[in-house]
Amino acid sequence: MEFAWTDEHRAYRARVRGFIERELPADWFENYAHGVGTNEQIDFSRSFCKKLADEGLLVPQWPRRFGGADGDPWQQFILSEEMWSWNEPRGPQYMGVNWIGPALMRFGTPAQQDEHLKRISTGTVVWAQGFSEPQAGTDLAALKTKAERTAGGYKINGMKIWTSYARRADWIFLLARTGQERKSISCFLVPMNSPGVKVVPFPGLVEEGHLNEVYFDDVEVPESALIGEEGKGWNVIRYALSYERVGVPRYHRARMVLDATVAQLKREGRFSDSIVRAWAGRIVAKCEAARLLTYVVVHQRITGEDTVDPNVQRLTGAEACLDLMNFLITYVPDCLAGGDPYIANFYRSQISGTIAAGTYELQLDLVAQRGLGMPRSG
Ligand SMILES: Cc1cc2nc3c(=O)[nH]c(=O)nc-3n(C[C@H](O)[C@H](O)[C@H](O)COP(=O)(O)OP(=O)(O)OC[C@H]3O[C@@H](n4cnc5c(N)ncnc54)[C@H](O)[C@@H]3O)c2cc1C
Repeated sequence: MEFAWTDEHRAYRARVRGFIERELPADWFENYAHGVGTNEQIDFSRSFCKKLADEGLLVPQWPRRFGGADGDPWQQFILSEEMWSWNEPRGPQYMGVNWIGPALMRFGTPAQQDEHLKRISTGTVVWAQGFSEPQAGTDLAALKTKAERTAGGYKINGMKIWTSYARRADWIFLLARTGQERKSISCFLVPMNSPGVKVVPFPGLVEEGHLNEVYFDDVEVPESALIGEEGKGWNVIRYALSYERVGVPRYHRARMVLDATVAQLKREGRFSDSIVRAWAGRIVAKCEAARLLTYVVVHQRITGEDTVDPNVQRLTGAEACLDLMNFLITYVPDCLAGGDPYIANFYRSQISGTIAAGTYELQLDLVAQRGLGMPRSG
């Protein structure tokens, strides 16, 4: 494959950068993006995404009939890279764009597509992901939330945990059990203002505002809330997760944070030590390896290849971030105590980088099974 960007891609990146420079407030890191899921960030993301959509920059890669511009998938990655450089000003809406939208295009009915894709493509809706439960994170098939058939649809009972942004979300993409068999799981599109839905925020590892428990107490939804076939939710989940896992360009932000740190070390006359320089060089190599692997995965998605590379890519990105976090804590520990907010933000948000969106160990398992043909453990 060809790794160089075309002139069109470079022009697109310049447009995105120009937009960000125009639209982000000067105190973005201090007062908006100081955490993940703060009220300030979510309020800002609503107006930011709407403007991004008005400029044709939110979902250019989507088909025109769904609100896009028939652009190519590379545009989505350029957009994500640029957004991640700025601590994701799209806030929770990256989920709608990255994987909920594609899942709706593939599995949604025309009525579901009409209702939801318009809102996502115009930047006017916040979604939450209702997958994990206390005993069902890595092992999602163990989930207990139930959706039972009623005369007009389903009645949902159960609870979800770790649900990012739920307290400010309009809709939740929910997994619930619809049969006795372990994998009898279905996907539902549920409005967060449905009677019986209760959100209980809890403090996360780094700050409050992001993480929540969501309770479902006799929540009635119509049949049209089901996406895909009943009991065949795995097909939807597998497809959605394949989009979710490569949609977050951590390597890009890591590289920018490393550059900012090296600039600080140079200013302070601390970058002549060969050990510091070699360590920084190694992180550059890891970030760039993760970047190129991501591009390979995007290319494979375009050409329809099914490989283990998305899991390898996720591991490589996590390795780059972990190495950088150790570098930061060794050479600029003040970043955790009110130092440069750009560096501090990265550190704080990446503490859970090997857990969210599929743990590091799970990726190793998948590489062992799918890539090396080793037997399943446990
Ligand atoms: C910041 C953050 C945001 C999140 N946002 C959301 C969200 O919006 N929506 C949502 O649904 N979920 C969300 N999650 C949950 C996340 O998907 C789960 O935490 C993750 O899937 C792991 O599940 P768990 O926490 O239950 O850990 P467990 O599955 O209990 O795993 C615990 C440890 O055991 C290891 N382990 C488990 N099984 C195996 C195995 N078979 N082989 C080897 N090791 C294994 C894991 O790797 C991990 O280290 C979020 C999590 C975090 C940290």
